Amino acid sequence: MFTSINPYTQKKLKTYRPDSSAGIERKLKQADRAFADWSALSLSDRTASLRKVGDYLKTNKQRYAELITAEMGKTLQEALGEVEKCATTCTFYADHAAAYLADQSIESDSDGGPAARSVITYQPLGPVLAIMPWNFPFWQAMRFAIPGLIAGNVGLLKHAPNVMGCALAIEESFRESGLPEGVFQSLLVDVPVVETLLKDRRVKAATLTGSGRAGASMAAIAGSQIKKSVLELGGSDALIVLADADLEKAAETAVKSRMQNAGQSCIAAKRFIIEKSVKKQFTELVQHHIAQIKQGNPMDEATTMGPMARLDLADNIERQFRETITKRAKLIAGGSGTTLHREGCNVQPMLLDHVKPGMAAFDEETFGPLAVLIEAKDEADAIQLANQSDFGLGSALWTEDLDKAARLSRQIQAGSVFVNGLMRSDARVPFGGIKTSGFGRELSEAGIKEFTNVKTIWVE
Ligand code: NAP
Repeated sequence: MFTSINPYTQKKLKTYRPDSSAGIERKLKQADRAFADWSALSLSDRTASLRKVGDYLKTNKQRYAELITAEMGKTLQEALGEVEKCATTCTFYADHAAAYLADQSIESDSDGGPAARSVITYQPLGPVLAIMPWNFPFWQAMRFAIPGLIAGNVGLLKHAPNVMGCALAIEESFRESGLPEGVFQSLLVDVPVVETLLKDRRVKAATLTGSGRAGASMAAIAGSQIKKSVLELGGSDALIVLADADLEKAAETAVKSRMQNAGQSCIAAKRFIIEKSVKKQFTELVQHHIAQIKQGNPMDEATTMGPMARLDLADNIERQFRETITKRAKLIAGGSGTTLHREGCNVQPMLLDHVKPGMAAFDEETFGPLAVLIEAKDEADAIQLANQSDFGLGSALWTEDLDKAARLSRQIQAGSVFVNGLMRSDARVPFGGIKTSGFGRELSEAGIKEFTNVKTIWVE
């Protein structure tokens, strides 16, 4: 049984019965059948369907947001924003898919004579398995599904076990918007079933958002079957503050980036790297903004930080805090001495100073409300520290000198660099990582093309 537990109250919300083997087979058959019909529709029919999904999400925003908050603890305001973002992404792709997926004519010739016509087309692959985490339970799944479905694929979702209510709600949103049965289905299954699904001939490709451990395992199995995979994995994003930065704006954004979703975001600013000359001033500003955070019941409008999603996740951030403190980092907010303030899943936002390579909070991904300050001698040292990580997902760079920003942003090893702004995922630009943060891209034109057959048609 999958059990949803409200992380704030620790009360059981609901249990969900896993799909039986016969149930899984039914869903696979349905996906296979649905793909034949769905991919044969015109692109404009599919985009019209996805517009309806966007409308449905808007109409049901409050109900879905309450479900997200109950299951994984983010504030209701954050959950409303998440559902809204899914809705606007439906509209975004409905508006842009025709341009993104349009045939491309290529000038070509053969043996001295021109080909009569050469064209690149983008055709869907079939049923795609999506394995998703709980931290943005709607957005992560929709970020794959909206472009994937518009391109003509069908989706099978294996969601995290603590958000099965969200998994079924997402399926409902597609069904109630009028998409044919089988175009998007949630499978209530656990990890061992994933291998069976990846090896099933009807599943053509897979995407996983989650930890490196899970991604490596999934991609190895997909690879053994010669199936395409996309991996959106962890991050330890650097937020670099140079001496000429707007410190007030940088500090406010840094705290927002690190502490949103109770610190459980892959692209949170996990390492604040600050040039020595402005570190004291920046630290005071960060302390001020952390002090403004209001923890409490995530359903209350005044609450700006909810609980972490599960007790084991709070245990892990506590372990990382302890290991870092043991190596002489200093706690300057969120506890006293060497003790953090924690009640169950509610972990007070923390700030650690004097953090260096070799400490858990520098070397590992920290997935909770733990901000760290790392001193850099100069801008070259800042870039070196930023790149001294196994991860390469997002990053942020704060400087008033935009020529310098243009130069330095090319030296940062990451899938994206946000200059003087909040690192975020935005449907207009590609999202994804390098190094152990994964491969492949979601969103924008790159994202919609990930699960297509880029087919060359050469006519002589
Ligand atoms: P996780 O343990 O890897 O779980 C993510 C999903 O993968 C869950 O559905 C999980 O199922 C499944 N899974 C686990 N082991 C698997 C395996 N061996 N084979 C196939 N599937 C497997 O990740 P998490 O700790 O819950 O989520 C947080 C992580 O996700 C962080 O590292 C975060 O940075 C990353 N993340 C990345 C992005 C991005 O876009 N790059 C976005 C959000 C989160 P079970 O729960 O049933 O094990």
